[in-house]
Amino acid sequence: MHKLNRTVLAATLLFPTLATAQKTPIQITADLSEAPRRLYHAEIVLPVKPGPVSLITPQWIPGNHAPTGPVAHITGIVFYANGQKLAWRRDDVNLYEYHLTVPAGVTSVHAHLDAIVPDRVSRHLACLEWERLLLYPAHVPVHDILIEPSVTVPAGWGIGTALIKMGTSGPPPTTGILEDAHHPTVGAVTTHYGVTTVEQLEDSPVITGQYFHEFPLAPDVTPKHYIDVVSDEPEDSNLRPELLAELSNLVHEAGAAYASHHYTVYHFLLTLSDVAGGEGLEHGQSSDNGVGEKGFSDPVHQLPESDLLSHEFTHSWDGKYRRPATLYQPDFATPQQGQLLWVYEGMTQYMGNVLAARSGLKTQSQYRDMLAMSAASLDDETGRNWRSTEDTSIASSVDRHPTLWNSWERGQAYYQEGELLWLDADTLIREKTDGKKSLTDFQHIFLGKGGDTGPLIVPYDRAELIKDLNEVLPYDWAGFLHQHIDLPEPHADLEGIKRGGYELVFTDKLTQTAKLFASLGGGRRGGGVDAWYSLGLRIGADGTISNVLWDSIADKAQLAPGMKIVGVGNQLFSAESLHQALDDAKGTTKPIHLLLANDNDLTTVDLEYHDGPKYPSLKRVEGSTDYLDEITKPLSPQTVLPEPSAHPSQPNN
Ligand SMILES: [Zn+2]
Repeated sequence: MHKLNRTVLAATLLFPTLATAQKTPIQITADLSEAPRRLYHAEIVLPVKPGPVSLITPQWIPGNHAPTGPVAHITGIVFYANGQKLAWRRDDVNLYEYHLTVPAGVTSVHAHLDAIVPDRVSRHLACLEWERLLLYPAHVPVHDILIEPSVTVPAGWGIGTALIKMGTSGPPPTTGILEDAHHPTVGAVTTHYGVTTVEQLEDSPVITGQYFHEFPLAPDVTPKHYIDVVSDEPEDSNLRPELLAELSNLVHEAGAAYASHHYTVYHFLLTLSDVAGGEGLEHGQSSDNGVGEKGFSDPVHQLPESDLLSHEFTHSWDGKYRRPATLYQPDFATPQQGQLLWVYEGMTQYMGNVLAARSGLKTQSQYRDMLAMSAASLDDETGRNWRSTEDTSIASSVDRHPTLWNSWERGQAYYQEGELLWLDADTLIREKTDGKKSLTDFQHIFLGKGGDTGPLIVPYDRAELIKDLNEVLPYDWAGFLHQHIDLPEPHADLEGIKRGGYELVFTDKLTQTAKLFASLGGGRRGGGVDAWYSLGLRIGADGTISNVLWDSIADKAQLAPGMKIVGVGNQLFSAESLHQALDDAKGTTKPIHLLLANDNDLTTVDLEYHDGPKYPSLKRVEGSTDYLDEITKPLSPQTVLPEPSAHPSQPNN
């Protein structure tokens, strides 16, 4: 991965007597050959000096913004040296750290460990996030620790990763020390990768699977870009030519938007599985994207996922290369601090959707419809009265996935608040410079600083952000950010939509896009009944109330998440019966009568609501400049559809 590191490796091979513990790379072989049984194994050789040694496994996972390291699933740890098992003890305070004493004369310790893998794995594919298996010296900066990785997978499985492949061999030899250890499946293949650092390895996940395709994207662009796909069904990993063309557009559009690259190669890693679970995790030279098995099978299924790849790709610049200083720590043990996540995630949320529209992953009108849904939901978020966007950033590590009453808790509001904030900034720059400048000029400065750097992390603070914004447009950016970020605001920042030539309105009709979402019937982000802006209820396809809007009609009627609507009026619950009831009650004094299952009891409730169905959309303000369509227009020529044949780069069945 690093030219520098390969030189170091060559030097240690040539002059082994000069090698110190720090100069000799750790060797790790990740054995994924039992992935279908939800087990990974690792053999790790760690250079050590005699005496007390502390080894550690990652806790604060970059991009998760939280201490999610899966230490609880690391099992079967054995350390041995010179053919003898070594005693170990876990640290009493830091449960990710292991202490052992290395006997005199010993220069390397062999560690074996197993990992139980509850997710991101199926019978046909697996995703390796290295924190499942990593072990390295504690209290040393992770960018100073060299490591040489290998990965063993079942025979015939393809591999996608940004790691640099050096060669392949059979399964690693077993040591004979662990009599009952699980051994790699017969015929498993081990791929060896170039020496890197623990910091870079943690940032370089691996996907592998029986049904594997690798497609080059935008072949005219350097550095090179690929999408690697594994799927549970053989046909799914052979992506549609239209999608590949859109992804090539995305590579061009990101290049135009950010005027730089901070990787030597980029791999979109995509798993298509209904079993392995969803994911979207950014890395500097790759992204780990997991969707349902039909998630990209046609434009309708693609819609809810349309910004996933563009979002994670954008992170290579915004979040990975440019990292808020307090989110970048020297190791994975020091707590990360979430302030500025409204840039890291917020500007990425904005650009992920903008680039998706520019690339054709969604249409301009779908972009507007989805922006309306997001803005309306934020504007109605009652928790905004007690809690600033900055507070949601600071507390991100404890608030990642609220499920109940989330309009009051706010959870990760910094994503969508950030999207509106950066749209506000973009339209402001466009308006005040008569369309001569835009947020793109700021991104060229802020994200393109240093040009093409290769993989690198450069921290920033709010002062630098303000300075770079002022370079594009002299303005009170400090005041702008203080108002929208630091203070609780009773309403969402709708200035960007307004200045963009549109108005957020509510009508009795779902937008085309909202209809498509509803037609997906209970998919990852679709399905159910949206009565949020009328009754204050989000309802699953089976009638279960998934959320109640704080201070809404439903809240005042004492409804709660988890209750199930069984009947509407004198009919059984269905999307149709609820919609009919909303229509029937409109303009009358007749309440909406619901029969509810609440744990084991049945109750009834009358909702006094007479304004009919209400759904958000954006309405064009005639005569104003249409900045929204201007913003979502491609900056580069569109890719011509490639030949329909795929070119798998590795064998697959
Ligand atoms: Zn993100």
